[in-house]
Amino acid sequence: MKIAMIGAGYVGLVSGACFSDFGHDVVCIDISEDKIARLKRGEIPIYEPGLETLVETNARAGRLSFTTDLNAAVADADVVFIAVGTPSRRGDGHADLSYVYVAAADIARAVTGFTVIVTKSTVPVGTGDAVERIIADTNPDADCVVVSNPEFLREGAAIDDFKRPDRIVVGLEDDRARPVMEEVYRPLYLNQAPLMFTGRRTAELIKYAANGFLAMKITFINEIADLCEKAGGDVQAVARGIGLDNRIGAKFLNAGPGYGGSCFPKDTLALVKTGQDYEAPLRLIETTVAVNDTRKRAMGRKVIAACGGDVRGKTIGLLGLTFKPETDDMRDAPSIAIVQTLLDAGARVRAYDPEGMEMAKTVLDGVEYGADAYDVARGAECLVLVTEWNQFRSLDLDRVKSLLASPVLVDLRNVYRRAEVEKAGLAYISIGRSDQV
Ligand code: NAD
Repeated sequence: MKIAMIGAGYVGLVSGACFSDFGHDVVCIDISEDKIARLKRGEIPIYEPGLETLVETNARAGRLSFTTDLNAAVADADVVFIAVGTPSRRGDGHADLSYVYVAAADIARAVTGFTVIVTKSTVPVGTGDAVERIIADTNPDADCVVVSNPEFLREGAAIDDFKRPDRIVVGLEDDRARPVMEEVYRPLYLNQAPLMFTGRRTAELIKYAANGFLAMKITFINEIADLCEKAGGDVQAVARGIGLDNRIGAKFLNAGPGYGGSCFPKDTLALVKTGQDYEAPLRLIETTVAVNDTRKRAMGRKVIAACGGDVRGKTIGLLGLTFKPETDDMRDAPSIAIVQTLLDAGARVRAYDPEGMEMAKTVLDGVEYGADAYDVARGAECLVLVTEWNQFRSLDLDRVKSLLASPVLVDLRNVYRRAEVEKAGLAYISIGRSDQV
């Protein structure tokens, strides 16, 4: 199969590289000349474990290439994937579909022969219909079928998620696309990954329903964590106690500073807007959004409280800035609100992140950066574990204690045990665990 992948970001680049690894002939297209120039030189513009090797192997084998020339790549393709960004539209929280629509019109002008157009970007219900209209209006002679194939990969584990998915959802209205999509995913299909065919609008809804549910699950355990702190309990034991029930499941029950990242915040917001537009309000998701928004700044206030209620002129050390480990992605990371709350209260913030500092510098103002965890601890009034990178999981706590100006560790990811931290002479504040645990 000849595949054109429009958008070489976290999803497009990973999907393109994985499809080429399946044996397909893939061209990744991006409007960013810098991104394409770097990819052609063998540089990977994002941090994603395993991606560099995968790209290098398949590029060398001649199955994976990069270009800014959409016309040539699309004209040659059997299948064209749209994997461009769908951020929140400024002002109202709807998904901004302008990149998708531009890509659709560009595709329409370039296609030759029967072509399957696949929307991999996360798009609200009905977008497939709009893409179909744009293609027909732009080029009435185009012989295209528009399919929805939402992506469920997680940054940090993207290649494994793509190659071993729980399911592949394909939404279509025209059966001519079915054998093509079966062929595209054949290696996974043979490995028993369920390939689920639905109507196109249903596929679009599945993606938002999945992200809405997961965001709600995280927010649920975060609220239980707050109750544990006040009532005296251990949220991790509660999570285990409920997660062992198969109807609930153990995943996504880690209490923390609130969800962030490039998907959950914008997708929950867009889902709320869709619900309102269709007069089918999703009150659980509306509340999830509101609770999560408040939580991030509340985490900043938790740090301030751990420092005795006043951080003016004090240095606070932050470990981790990205929204989760194993990615450099800073989009909507909880650290942004935490940093802002601390800076607003007059603190100096020093931070270290293994992969995210370059991107953090484009998002955060007024933060100083350290060389490693211990450098950040030096002279700080309090050390805050924000993102649970592996290298923060087994810090030399005696050394941390000797470096800090006052011995306080705030662990927003519940990585440590109270007893071991206190043994090193540090005060310990975590999430959803009362003083006794
Ligand atoms: P991204 O911002 O990393 O990548 C998008 C890329 O598209 C950019 O490189 C941009 O330059 C390029 N682009 C924009 N318009 C273009 C055009 N007309 N022609 C060619 N290239 C164009 O975004 P992402 O994180 O890869 O997300 C893409 C989509 O996938 C979004 O809808 C997102 O919600 C969805 N998604 C993301 C994830 C994730 O973990 N990042 C997971 C599942 C689904």
